[in-house]
Amino acid sequence: MVHFSSARIGSRRVTHLVNGRTIAVTMATATAAMADVLRSGGITPTLAVLVPTDDPGAAWYVRSIQRAAARTGITGQVHWMGGQRSGLPSAAEISDRLAELSRDPAVHGVVCQTPLPAGADLARVGSAIPVGRDVDGANPASLGGLAAGLPGVFAPATAAAVLQILRHERIPLSGRRAVVVGRSTVVGKPAALLLLAGHATVTVAHSRTADLPAVCREADILVVAAGRPKLIGPDHVRPGAVVIDVGTTPADSGGLVGDVDAVAVTGIASVLSPVPGGVGPVTTAVLMQHTVRAAARAAGQG
Ligand code: NAP
Repeated sequence: MVHFSSARIGSRRVTHLVNGRTIAVTMATATAAMADVLRSGGITPTLAVLVPTDDPGAAWYVRSIQRAAARTGITGQVHWMGGQRSGLPSAAEISDRLAELSRDPAVHGVVCQTPLPAGADLARVGSAIPVGRDVDGANPASLGGLAAGLPGVFAPATAAAVLQILRHERIPLSGRRAVVVGRSTVVGKPAALLLLAGHATVTVAHSRTADLPAVCREADILVVAAGRPKLIGPDHVRPGAVVIDVGTTPADSGGLVGDVDAVAVTGIASVLSPVPGGVGPVTTAVLMQHTVRAAARAAGQG
């Protein structure tokens, strides 16, 4: 079993805290430079975000996407469908609008913001976004392409953000044991596929997994996306492991709490990507990177 080196003070390790905001700034600089080249050739990279409900969390996230787009020279369009006056759209109406946005030659990336109204399912409505413009990996064909190792498909931005963090922190994947807690199509499964593509040996755990602490302790790299605050404590983390917390649950006191008990695993993990301030900002930066790549490919430059 491979152990990561980490500094020790007495019997405790020094846990390096990932700064997702710094990683996002580094990525944004590179994305803005690519966007600049495209704009000088007459192409303005454009991301269209469809928001089918008036959920306050979605509205907050969409504003952060708009700010990130403005910083990177991308045009961010927001298309609101939900609202108390108009009522919530049906799955067919959402699919139709996504297809319409995808047909717009000025639009390079299309995102369907969750949550969706009851009766609508992201995998179904996401099928309306062609793979080349599916910058948040909502179309099941994108997940299939990822599984098959096809070029030109985009992973869901959150899963790609996990890999960006590992790359930025220079965490080797090849031959390492990775455990992903959570098997959703938007985070757990694509994160597992990306780790597998990096030659890690991957286990996917979920709510029926027997003895979760023992499974997690096998991990050199532990990625947690369950949406269960403090699910992961000291019993789940092998000394020296790298822990990436993806979970975000609104805290009673405001803000967000992750799935990892950060205080309890500090001094055990070698690296911890915390919530907030870890995967979240990198996810938005990935979305911008994907949009510029989609624009470059559409222009035959990707
Ligand atoms: P999801 O669809 O609800 O999936 C949760 C997964 O966790 C399921 O596979 C579930 O297992 C598993 N799980 C639940 N309780 C568990 C337990 N006690 N032990 C082991 N596994 C358990 O959620 P999601 O959409 O993947 O999101 C996961 C978390 O990531 C959420 O907190 C979400 O808010 C967050 N998130 C963050 C970002 C970001 O930072 N930008 C983006 C997307 C999501 P079963 O399959 O057996 O039910």
